[in-house]
Amino acid sequence: MTFDIVTIFPNWIRAALGTPLGEGVVKRAIDRGLLTVEVHDLRDFTQDRHRVVDDMPYGGGPGMVLKAEPLFKAVEAITAARGAPSAVVLTCPQGRRFTQREAGRLAALDRIIVLCGRYEGVDDRVRAHLATDELSIGDYVLTGGELPALVIVDAVARLVPGVVGDQESVERESFARGLLDFPQYTRPAAFRDMNVPEVLLSGHHGDIRRWRIRQAIERTLAERPDLLDQATLDDEERAILEQLRKDGDHGRR
Ligand code: SAH
Repeated sequence: MTFDIVTIFPNWIRAALGTPLGEGVVKRAIDRGLLTVEVHDLRDFTQDRHRVVDDMPYGGGPGMVLKAEPLFKAVEAITAARGAPSAVVLTCPQGRRFTQREAGRLAALDRIIVLCGRYEGVDDRVRAHLATDELSIGDYVLTGGELPALVIVDAVARLVPGVVGDQESVERESFARGLLDFPQYTRPAAFRDMNVPEVLLSGHHGDIRRWRIRQAIERTLAERPDLLDQATLDDEERAILEQLRKDGDHGRR
């Protein structure tokens, strides 16, 4: 799978991905050839001597807007080099929310181009005629699309088969099925009078499994009840959810 990221701060992204210095899961995936991340400087797709990528907004108002042409040229150059992309993602606070489900959808694709906006945003013709997807990483405004691009690469990369060693952990995790993850503990069993729940030390796999399901559902009910509407629960989980709902208020907000 290939990501092509188009940005006016290519070094920023390269540093974050850590070509020589990087650590962690994404870096290892790149080293093992499971993932290619190519960073493109938007200024390389300008025609003028000053390599200008922005201009004043039509109709007036503060700030600058990223010009359409360099972004179109960047996508065309990447397409010429690699073939047609499976998706052209425009990072955009007005876009569809980037969720685990969205990450899963992108993880099934071959070639993804990510366009990083800056300043007041991007000439709307890019959104209307170049991007196939507009994605927002949350309801806040950042100074540019570079952090969203990295967020998207990170979340998608770990869903590419082989990138995360233990596939079970990917399937069990928060949001995978509409439930938050259960709490995890590691040694020591007692730390400053704070003890690991007894059941996890019991060695009783059935009890542990039920406790974990219950915890996951309890947490979801308390923190993110909205997730439960779309969760895919099995019979056992559904029964536990019904019971918890019957037992009363779990801090629903
Ligand atoms: N004026 C715009 C905000 C521009 S922010 C508005 O009000 O909608 C500049 C750039 O940062 C955007 O073009 C986008 O690429 C990126 N960006 C900022 N916040 C983002 C978010 N929550 N998700 C994805 N991209 C974001």
